[in-house]
Amino acid sequence: MVTIHQKTVIGLFLTLLFLLAANTNFAQITENQSSKLLIHNGNIINIKNGEILYNHSIVVSDGVIESIMPATNVKLNSYSIYTDANGKFVIPGIWDMHAHMRADNLPPFITTEWMMPLLIANGVTGVRDMTSSCQYDSQGPVCLDQMRKWQNEIESGKLLGPRLLALSSYQINPDWNYQFCEQEARALVHQFSNQNLDLIKIYFRLSPKAYSWIIDESEKLNIDVGGHIPIRMSVIEASEKGLRSLEHARDLLFDCYPESNKFRKEAKSQDPSVKIMHQMVDEFDENILNEIFEVMIKNNTWYVPTHVTRRMEAYADDPNFRNDFRNEYIPEMLLASWLKDADNVIAMDSTKNGRDAFMKFYKKGLEITANAHKSGVRILLGTDGGDTFVYPGFSVHDELQELVLAGLTPLA
Ligand SMILES: [Zn+2]
Repeated sequence: MVTIHQKTVIGLFLTLLFLLAANTNFAQITENQSSKLLIHNGNIINIKNGEILYNHSIVVSDGVIESIMPATNVKLNSYSIYTDANGKFVIPGIWDMHAHMRADNLPPFITTEWMMPLLIANGVTGVRDMTSSCQYDSQGPVCLDQMRKWQNEIESGKLLGPRLLALSSYQINPDWNYQFCEQEARALVHQFSNQNLDLIKIYFRLSPKAYSWIIDESEKLNIDVGGHIPIRMSVIEASEKGLRSLEHARDLLFDCYPESNKFRKEAKSQDPSVKIMHQMVDEFDENILNEIFEVMIKNNTWYVPTHVTRRMEAYADDPNFRNDFRNEYIPEMLLASWLKDADNVIAMDSTKNGRDAFMKFYKKGLEITANAHKSGVRILLGTDGGDTFVYPGFSVHDELQELVLAGLTPLA
């Protein structure tokens, strides 16, 4: 149960398992309800039409909503499991479809005692984890075995945390001078498939050729491929080959300005210079964007914009942003690294021109998401949880607000 100041954020989820379908039963329940959970006296939003039922109670039986009724109709002593919503908003569990529940060299307690409780406290009941396995043992101590153990423990109720809905491979990001051979690329897919991973995470240094082999083999083994577009290919090319999800707002900006081909051919980093960022926004071509969207829709490539990550870059020098009250929830060592990351963004170009570039880039990302939604591209909510200034759980609500800011309706 979560109190939200912005009731508007509710409706966006594809994951809304239950809430308030039209045929809700409002009858007063008289039979023995002792094994049922009562969530009493909350405000419930109908995610289909936005109507709010104030001061209503929910009866849950075997994990399924059985009935919803005015709080005044409830016989409290009929329920042994009872939660008083006390006039707060009751929302369905939220899924964060892009988060990192482990990071290299971080101790396990960061996940279990910090991330998981904050996610649950913020109503996040499911996470698609984006780097669950380690390429090298030195990236531990938390690697796939531990993630799988946690996944099972959460499922069986031994550990309090959001369901780990999907576990992903490490990101495939070979050095520039490394060349995959076909056999090796295909073998890698088999390795991930044997590990029962749900997603192969690709990254920007992967060559188009290796990407083709990987995605071809992944189709045979029925495992999804998603991530950052290999920088030497376009979103359209990646989608045409079967990309399942495009992560972050950035790649669409790379492809929609006159010098896109040059950038894709020459860039050595997925962080364009300030000059190029200005160019990408100022010379942005909506027609190209619409072409990309058509291809993404045709191929069922989903889009996970993670606006909160671009917002961090835009506001890296803003004292209000840096001194967010939620910093008190962040372990000291992490907060120090977040601030350092923010300093590094500023250091790229601290002039007004430099700071403007990041702000423009972030805002253009919002505009792109609005257009994506209007065009019919499927959008998923993701935060990049685990990354700099992404507050586990809290930032899911931030990202929802970003989507509303982008122009999606609260019930989108
Ligand atoms: Zn990520």
